[in-house]
Amino acid sequence: MQLFISCDMEGTAGVCSWSQCDPENRHEYPVFRRLMTLEVAAAVEGALGGGASQILINDSHWSMHNLLLDELPPRPEIRVISGAPKPWSMMQGLSDASDAAFFTGYHAKAGDAATLAHTFSDDVHCVTVNDVACSEALLNAALAGSYGVPVLMITGDRAIVDETLRHLPWAVGVSVKDPIGFSSVNSLPPSAARDAIRKGAREAMGRVGNARPFTFQPPLELRIETAAVEHADFIELLPGFTRIAGRAVRATAGDYPSLFASFLAATRIAAAANRPS
Ligand SMILES: [Zn+2]
Repeated sequence: MQLFISCDMEGTAGVCSWSQCDPENRHEYPVFRRLMTLEVAAAVEGALGGGASQILINDSHWSMHNLLLDELPPRPEIRVISGAPKPWSMMQGLSDASDAAFFTGYHAKAGDAATLAHTFSDDVHCVTVNDVACSEALLNAALAGSYGVPVLMITGDRAIVDETLRHLPWAVGVSVKDPIGFSSVNSLPPSAARDAIRKGAREAMGRVGNARPFTFQPPLELRIETAAVEHADFIELLPGFTRIAGRAVRATAGDYPSLFASFLAATRIAAAANRPS
Protein backbone atom coordinates (compact mmCIF):
# COMPACT_ATOMS: atom_id res chain seq x y z
CA MET A 1 0.00 0.00 0.00
CA GLN A 2 1.45 3.35 -1.05
CA LEU A 3 1.09 6.17 1.47
CA PHE A 4 1.63 9.87 0.84
CA ILE A 5 2.46 12.10 3.84
CA SER A 6 2.28 15.89 3.69
CA CYS A 7 4.03 17.19 6.80
CA ASP A 8 3.73 20.74 8.09
CA MET A 9 5.37 22.17 11.20
CA GLU A 10 3.04 24.59 13.00
CA GLY A 11 0.87 21.77 14.35
CA THR A 12 3.79 19.97 16.00
CA ALA A 13 3.51 19.41 19.77
CA GLY A 14 5.00 22.31 21.69
CA VAL A 15 5.10 24.76 18.76
CA CYS A 16 3.48 28.05 19.79
CA SER A 17 5.18 30.83 17.79
CA TRP A 18 6.45 31.82 14.37
CA SER A 19 9.97 32.16 15.70
CA GLN A 20 10.09 28.41 16.31
CA CYS A 21 9.03 27.67 12.71
CA ASP A 22 11.18 30.26 10.95
CA PRO A 23 14.28 28.73 9.30
CA GLU A 24 16.04 32.07 9.76
CA ASN A 25 15.83 31.71 13.54
CA ARG A 26 19.08 29.97 14.40
CA HIS A 27 18.20 29.46 18.06
CA GLU A 28 14.66 28.07 18.15
CA TYR A 29 14.13 26.55 14.68
CA PRO A 30 16.76 23.75 15.04
CA VAL A 31 14.97 22.51 18.15
CA PHE A 32 11.52 22.53 16.60
CA ARG A 33 12.48 21.12 13.19
CA ARG A 34 13.75 18.11 15.11
CA LEU A 35 10.42 17.77 16.93
CA MET A 36 8.64 18.02 13.57
CA THR A 37 10.90 15.33 12.14
CA LEU A 38 10.33 12.97 15.05
CA GLU A 39 6.54 13.29 14.71
CA VAL A 40 6.84 12.40 11.02
CA ALA A 41 9.06 9.46 11.97
CA ALA A 42 6.41 8.29 14.44
CA ALA A 43 3.75 8.47 11.72
CA VAL A 44 6.01 6.49 9.39
CA GLU A 45 6.67 3.83 12.02
CA GLY A 46 2.96 3.44 12.71
CA ALA A 47 2.11 3.31 9.01
CA LEU A 48 4.74 0.64 8.33
CA GLY A 49 3.40 -1.36 11.25
CA GLY A 50 -0.11 -0.95 9.85
CA GLY A 51 0.71 -2.26 6.38
CA ALA A 52 2.18 0.58 4.32
CA SER A 53 4.67 -0.82 1.81
CA GLN A 54 5.89 2.47 0.32
CA ILE A 55 5.81 5.94 1.88
CA LEU A 56 6.39 9.21 0.04
CA ILE A 57 6.92 12.14 2.44
CA ASN A 58 6.50 15.69 1.13
CA ASP A 59 8.17 18.26 3.38
CA SER A 60 5.47 20.96 3.34
CA HIS A 61 6.56 23.81 5.61
CA TRP A 62 8.04 27.18 4.59
CA SER A 63 11.23 26.47 2.59
CA MET A 64 10.22 22.79 2.61
CA HIS A 65 13.57 21.39 3.64
CA ASN A 66 12.92 21.06 7.34
CA LEU A 67 13.13 17.33 7.94
CA LEU A 68 16.35 16.00 9.45
CA LEU A 69 16.62 13.08 7.08
CA ASP A 70 18.93 11.04 9.29
CA GLU A 71 16.27 11.00 12.00
CA LEU A 72 13.79 9.14 9.79
CA PRO A 73 13.62 5.36 9.98
CA PRO A 74 16.41 3.88 7.79
CA ARG A 75 14.05 2.03 5.48
CA PRO A 76 14.21 1.69 1.68
CA GLU A 77 10.39 1.96 1.46
CA ILE A 78 10.66 5.69 2.30
CA ARG A 79 11.25 8.57 -0.11
CA VAL A 80 11.34 12.26 0.83
CA ILE A 81 10.56 15.29 -1.33
CA SER A 82 12.50 18.32 -0.09
CA GLY A 83 12.79 21.94 -1.13
CA ALA A 84 10.77 24.73 -2.71
CA PRO A 85 9.35 26.07 -4.85
CA LYS A 86 7.58 23.05 -6.21
CA PRO A 87 4.48 23.40 -8.38
CA TRP A 88 2.03 21.48 -6.20
CA SER A 89 3.36 22.84 -2.91
CA MET A 90 2.16 20.81 0.08
CA MET A 91 0.79 18.13 -2.24
CA GLN A 92 3.78 17.61 -4.50
CA GLY A 93 4.16 13.91 -5.27
CA LEU A 94 0.54 12.92 -4.65
CA SER A 95 -0.78 10.91 -7.60
CA ASP A 96 -3.32 8.27 -8.42
CA ALA A 97 -0.57 5.75 -7.57
CA SER A 98 -1.11 6.69 -3.90
CA ASP A 99 -3.56 4.57 -1.93
CA ALA A 100 -3.92 6.88 1.06
CA ALA A 101 -2.65 10.12 2.57
CA PHE A 102 -1.69 11.44 6.02
CA PHE A 103 -1.38 15.10 7.03
CA THR A 104 0.93 15.73 10.00
CA GLY A 105 1.75 18.89 11.93
CA TYR A 106 -1.23 20.75 10.44
CA HIS A 107 -2.70 23.96 11.88
CA ALA A 108 -5.98 25.90 11.88
CA LYS A 109 -7.18 27.97 8.96
CA ALA A 110 -6.82 31.73 8.54
CA GLY A 111 -9.22 33.64 10.75
CA ASP A 112 -9.71 30.90 13.33
CA ALA A 113 -9.04 31.77 16.97
CA ALA A 114 -6.18 29.27 17.08
CA THR A 115 -2.41 29.02 17.16
CA LEU A 116 -0.56 30.25 14.04
CA ALA A 117 -3.83 30.08 12.11
CA HIS A 118 -3.30 30.77 8.39
CA THR A 119 -4.07 29.27 5.00
CA PHE A 120 -0.99 28.88 2.81
CA SER A 121 -0.12 32.58 3.06
CA ASP A 122 -0.55 35.57 5.32
CA ASP A 123 -2.01 37.30 2.27
CA VAL A 124 -5.12 35.10 2.43
CA HIS A 125 -7.79 36.15 4.91
CA CYS A 126 -10.34 33.50 3.92
CA VAL A 127 -10.72 30.96 1.13
CA THR A 128 -13.90 29.12 0.23
CA VAL A 129 -14.72 26.41 -2.27
CA ASN A 130 -18.42 26.17 -3.09
CA ASP A 131 -19.08 28.36 -0.01
CA VAL A 132 -17.20 26.00 2.35
CA ALA A 133 -14.47 27.80 4.31
CA CYS A 134 -11.28 25.83 3.71
CA SER A 135 -8.16 25.09 5.71
CA GLU A 136 -4.97 23.85 4.12
CA ALA A 137 -6.07 20.38 5.22
CA LEU A 138 -9.41 20.60 3.40
CA LEU A 139 -7.94 22.14 0.23
CA ASN A 140 -5.29 19.41 0.18
CA ALA A 141 -7.75 16.64 1.04
CA ALA A 142 -9.89 17.67 -1.93
CA LEU A 143 -6.86 17.44 -4.23
CA ALA A 144 -6.15 13.96 -2.91
CA GLY A 145 -9.84 13.17 -3.35
CA SER A 146 -9.76 14.26 -6.98
CA TYR A 147 -7.19 11.48 -7.51
CA GLY A 148 -9.37 9.03 -5.62
CA VAL A 149 -7.05 9.09 -2.59
CA PRO A 150 -8.57 9.21 0.93
CA VAL A 151 -6.95 11.03 3.84
CA LEU A 152 -6.66 8.55 6.71
CA MET A 153 -5.02 10.64 9.43
CA ILE A 154 -4.51 14.24 10.46
CA THR A 155 -2.30 15.36 13.34
CA GLY A 156 -1.98 18.88 14.71
CA ASP A 157 -3.77 21.21 17.07
CA ARG A 158 -7.25 20.48 18.31
CA ALA A 159 -8.86 23.19 16.15
CA ILE A 160 -7.69 21.73 12.83
CA VAL A 161 -8.14 18.12 13.90
CA ASP A 162 -11.75 18.65 15.06
CA GLU A 163 -12.67 20.69 11.98
CA THR A 164 -11.12 18.20 9.57
CA LEU A 165 -12.86 15.24 11.17
CA ARG A 166 -16.20 16.99 10.63
CA HIS A 167 -15.48 16.84 6.89
CA LEU A 168 -13.56 13.53 6.90
CA PRO A 169 -15.26 11.45 9.62
CA TRP A 170 -13.49 8.28 8.49
CA ALA A 171 -10.04 9.65 9.37
CA VAL A 172 -8.05 9.25 12.57
CA GLY A 173 -7.39 12.58 14.28
CA VAL A 174 -4.48 13.02 16.68
CA SER A 175 -4.66 16.31 18.57
CA VAL A 176 -1.30 17.04 20.20
CA LYS A 177 -2.17 20.43 21.71
CA ASP A 178 -4.99 22.82 22.53
CA PRO A 179 -4.74 26.37 21.18
CA ILE A 180 -4.94 29.16 23.75
CA GLY A 181 -4.21 32.10 21.46
CA PHE A 182 -2.35 32.88 18.25
CA SER A 183 1.01 32.41 19.98
CA SER A 184 0.14 30.18 22.93
CA VAL A 185 -0.80 26.54 23.39
CA ASN A 186 -1.42 23.89 26.01
CA SER A 187 0.54 20.93 24.63
CA LEU A 188 1.38 17.31 25.24
CA PRO A 189 5.08 16.72 25.75
CA PRO A 190 6.68 15.70 22.44
CA SER A 191 7.30 12.09 23.41
CA ALA A 192 3.65 11.56 24.38
CA ALA A 193 2.54 13.21 21.14
CA ARG A 194 4.76 10.85 19.17
CA ASP A 195 3.32 7.81 20.94
CA ALA A 196 -0.21 8.99 20.05
CA ILE A 197 0.78 9.64 16.43
CA ARG A 198 2.46 6.23 16.07
CA LYS A 199 -0.64 4.51 17.46
CA GLY A 200 -2.98 6.66 15.37
CA ALA A 201 -1.04 5.94 12.18
CA ARG A 202 -1.24 2.22 12.70
CA GLU A 203 -4.97 2.44 13.36
CA ALA A 204 -5.47 4.70 10.34
CA MET A 205 -3.93 2.20 7.94
CA GLY A 206 -6.58 -0.27 9.05
CA ARG A 207 -9.32 2.14 7.95
CA VAL A 208 -8.34 2.33 4.28
CA GLY A 209 -11.16 0.05 3.20
CA ASN A 210 -13.82 2.24 4.82
CA ALA A 211 -12.36 5.66 4.03
CA ARG A 212 -13.68 7.89 1.25
CA PRO A 213 -11.93 10.38 -1.01
CA PHE A 214 -13.11 13.86 -0.01
CA THR A 215 -14.46 15.82 -2.98
CA PHE A 216 -16.32 19.01 -3.83
CA GLN A 217 -19.05 18.57 -6.41
CA PRO A 218 -18.80 20.56 -9.67
CA PRO A 219 -19.53 23.28 -10.64
CA LEU A 220 -16.57 24.51 -8.61
CA GLU A 221 -16.23 28.06 -7.39
CA LEU A 222 -13.18 29.44 -5.57
CA ARG A 223 -13.43 32.67 -3.59
CA ILE A 224 -10.47 34.30 -1.90
CA GLU A 225 -10.69 37.16 0.57
CA THR A 226 -7.28 38.75 0.69
CA ALA A 227 -5.57 40.42 3.61
CA ALA A 228 -5.15 43.69 1.72
CA VAL A 229 -6.47 45.42 -1.39
CA GLU A 230 -3.12 45.14 -3.19
CA HIS A 231 -3.22 41.34 -3.00
CA ALA A 232 -6.53 41.31 -4.87
CA ASP A 233 -5.08 43.86 -7.34
CA PHE A 234 -2.45 41.27 -8.29
CA ILE A 235 -4.65 38.15 -8.27
CA GLU A 236 -7.10 39.91 -10.59
CA LEU A 237 -4.33 39.87 -13.21
CA LEU A 238 -4.47 36.07 -13.46
CA PRO A 239 -6.62 34.65 -16.28
CA GLY A 240 -9.87 33.26 -14.93
CA PHE A 241 -10.09 35.51 -11.87
CA THR A 242 -12.77 38.16 -11.41
CA ARG A 243 -12.62 40.96 -8.86
CA ILE A 244 -15.74 40.90 -6.71
CA ALA A 245 -14.76 43.38 -3.97
CA GLY A 246 -11.84 45.46 -2.85
CA ARG A 247 -10.31 42.49 -1.09
CA ALA A 248 -12.05 39.58 -2.84
CA VAL A 249 -11.69 37.59 -6.05
CA ARG A 250 -13.41 34.57 -7.52
CA ALA A 251 -12.67 31.93 -10.12
CA THR A 252 -14.45 28.88 -11.42
CA ALA A 253 -13.04 25.56 -12.61
CA GLY A 254 -14.24 22.44 -14.35
CA ASP A 255 -12.17 20.15 -12.15
CA TYR A 256 -10.57 20.38 -8.73
CA PRO A 257 -6.88 20.15 -9.77
CA SER A 258 -7.47 23.23 -11.97
CA LEU A 259 -9.10 25.08 -9.08
CA PHE A 260 -6.27 24.10 -6.72
CA ALA A 261 -3.72 25.30 -9.29
CA SER A 262 -5.59 28.62 -9.55
CA PHE A 263 -5.48 29.00 -5.78
CA LEU A 264 -1.74 28.28 -5.59
CA ALA A 265 -1.05 30.68 -8.45
CA ALA A 266 -3.15 33.34 -6.68
CA THR A 267 -1.18 33.02 -3.44
CA ARG A 268 2.09 33.27 -5.34
CA ILE A 269 1.18 36.35 -7.33
CA ALA A 270 -0.34 37.96 -4.21
CA ALA A 271 3.05 37.62 -2.53
CA ALA A 272 4.52 39.78 -5.27
CA ALA A 273 2.28 42.63 -4.09
CA ASN A 274 4.23 42.68 -0.83
CA ARG A 275 7.41 43.75 -2.61
CA PRO A 276 8.15 47.01 -4.37
CA SER A 277 8.40 46.38 -8.11
ZN1 LIG B 1 3.86 25.46 7.77
